[in-house]
Amino acid sequence: MNILVTGGAGFIGSNFIRYMLNKYDNYKIVNYDLLTYAGNLESLQDVQTNERYTFVKGDICNAQLVDYVVKAYAIDVIVNFAAESHVDRSIVDPAAFVKTNVLGTQVLLNVAKANGIQKYVQISTDEVYGSLGETGYFTEETPLAPNSPYSASKASADLLVRAYHETYGLNVNITRCSNNYGPYQFPEKLIPLMITNALEGKELPIYGDGRHVRDWLHVLDHCAAIDLVVHKGKAGEVYNIGGHNERTNNEIVHLIVEKLGVCKSLIKYVPDRPGHDRRYAINAAKIRTELGWEPRYTFNQGVEETIRWYVNNQEWWKRMKSGEYMAYYKKQYGER
Ligand code: NAD
Repeated sequence: MNILVTGGAGFIGSNFIRYMLNKYDNYKIVNYDLLTYAGNLESLQDVQTNERYTFVKGDICNAQLVDYVVKAYAIDVIVNFAAESHVDRSIVDPAAFVKTNVLGTQVLLNVAKANGIQKYVQISTDEVYGSLGETGYFTEETPLAPNSPYSASKASADLLVRAYHETYGLNVNITRCSNNYGPYQFPEKLIPLMITNALEGKELPIYGDGRHVRDWLHVLDHCAAIDLVVHKGKAGEVYNIGGHNERTNNEIVHLIVEKLGVCKSLIKYVPDRPGHDRRYAINAAKIRTELGWEPRYTFNQGVEETIRWYVNNQEWWKRMKSGEYMAYYKKQYGER
């Protein structure tokens, strides 16, 4: 199988490429990525020399180049991870999110259709369902009710994916996963931000009262779920992915503080993010029963391994935390 992975230099995409190359010794993977601030080829240093791996720098909005790559590498399957993915940035600059997440997805779908691609998998998010109260879970039937420009752009893309199935019969799947954590995550997201700030002795900024709940999943459990969807997903179906690991942001930050043995006084509450969803929680019964998916990581084991990874890979994240990112960070959280 020849797979086009878009956004493969990002957090989940790079983990997925490594996972697939290791698991299937006859699959070829083309990583197509624009290398925005979030893309980093150092996350794939160990696979650069694998002859079944190719990197192409490009924008998913560039229809001509995507079409060329799909033909040149005889692509069978497209898995689209490419996105602007940070909610805070979407509040500052929604247009970039509409361009990549919505228009980019439409370009990929069109190229998939024109080239008779066997399967197109859209990596979406549970955030398209909006926010839950204190109880209940998102199922695949939960109405879409996105609250941030990020989630609205992802929901829009999901509707286009659905339309290409209904209108043109394209073999598509949409996966909607809860919050991921693990190695190679850009240090603007909660868990790596807290680990790396703690390691640098910097403040640990928590939005609002810190009682927002997220349902955390180790990135490799997410990759295993996507692998199942690529091979066994039924045409046109949506699959929710989540591990029933609901934690408040306060719990996460206190756990990291405790495991790293740093001082609690580093924790600082900062004004809440506008439109901040209160709780996400996934009902993943469909992918478990229909495709036989089971997460392997317990949250405790996963977080411990992740902390160890950031401790052992400081060069990787220190380079990412410099330059453009520091300018953004200061704007977001002030001089800290
Ligand atoms: P990320 O920000 O780490 O990576 C995104 C990648 O896409 C980067 O390598 C970037 O260079 C690339 N990219 C951005 N714009 C592009 C463009 N126009 N053309 C080509 N490449 C482009 O994101 P992530 O956390 O790995 O998330 C990957 C996907 O999974 C996203 O679609 C996101 O919505 C979804 N998702 C993420 C999570 C999570 O917790 N991180 C949870 C559920 C779903």
